[in-house]
Amino acid sequence: MNFQGGAGAPFLLFHCGTGSRLTPAAKDFLAGMMAEIEPYLLEGEGALELAVRCVDRLEDSGLFNAGKGAISQSDGVVRRDAGGMDGKSLDALGISQVRGIPSMARLVASLMGQSAHVHLSGAMVERWAGRHGWTLDLPEEERDPTLCWEKSPGLAGEGTVGCVVRDRQRDLAAVTSTGGIGRMWPGRVGDSPIVGGGFYADNERGAISMTGVGESILKAGGGGSLIALLAGASDENRDRILSEFLDRIRTRFKGEAGCVGIDRVGRPFASHSSRHMVHGFLRQGRHHVSDQGSGYGDLF
Ligand code: ASP
Repeated sequence: MNFQGGAGAPFLLFHCGTGSRLTPAAKDFLAGMMAEIEPYLLEGEGALELAVRCVDRLEDSGLFNAGKGAISQSDGVVRRDAGGMDGKSLDALGISQVRGIPSMARLVASLMGQSAHVHLSGAMVERWAGRHGWTLDLPEEERDPTLCWEKSPGLAGEGTVGCVVRDRQRDLAAVTSTGGIGRMWPGRVGDSPIVGGGFYADNERGAISMTGVGESILKAGGGGSLIALLAGASDENRDRILSEFLDRIRTRFKGEAGCVGIDRVGRPFASHSSRHMVHGFLRQGRHHVSDQGSGYGDLF
């Protein structure tokens, strides 16, 4: 089904991670968040700024496994991962294993384009951030390691957040942010902060934010390969390719996964192999949130 948004109408999709449920608190929060972001979308804010704005709100809510709500690694230390890409400039940056900074999407945006590198990790990101006026809140974030086990008894952390945007200029962007998965070793990095893994955006191909078991997503080739497959597919085949990609991650690489994205011709999609994944869609006068349902335009 074709998306009825009008050729140039800007829109945004977000997800709150595989396994996430639409609790009353999440529903209220997300309704407020979309109402807050809508004016920026309509006023013509750029795609990357909008995606960062959305992920920043999700991180700040403390409701999801990212930002203020991020789980700790098995040594009790919270180390966050995030990444973003601008589909017009093709600037991209992932940062991983960063302590003491819940606003990871904003940190990605402030470092992006400052170097030719596409990934920076750990202590050096913290030092760079410190030098540029960011305050690290380290002792606050030392947590009892058992908390992450209790909060996340399964493999997935349930609550990675991500956003893709097509702005008024039809430019694309994607941002993803996470606290990782349960029972992870200190230093473990998943798909979320990897360009082409947990996020990807190229105006000529599409944009995507992934969620799920990062090891499985990376072994399957990551979100960048799904976008490439969709870009080369005929209209009738896109839905099938989308569900086959996620099915393959589940059956061959033994992990649940989900995504929100925008394809080469500007159509939104959302899909997940997990039973639930909170995801939402925002365009002028139309807000939609659900924790079930999959596929192309007909979701919206
Ligand atoms: N993909 C994230 C990771 O592997 C976790 C998730 O999305 O639930 O770190």
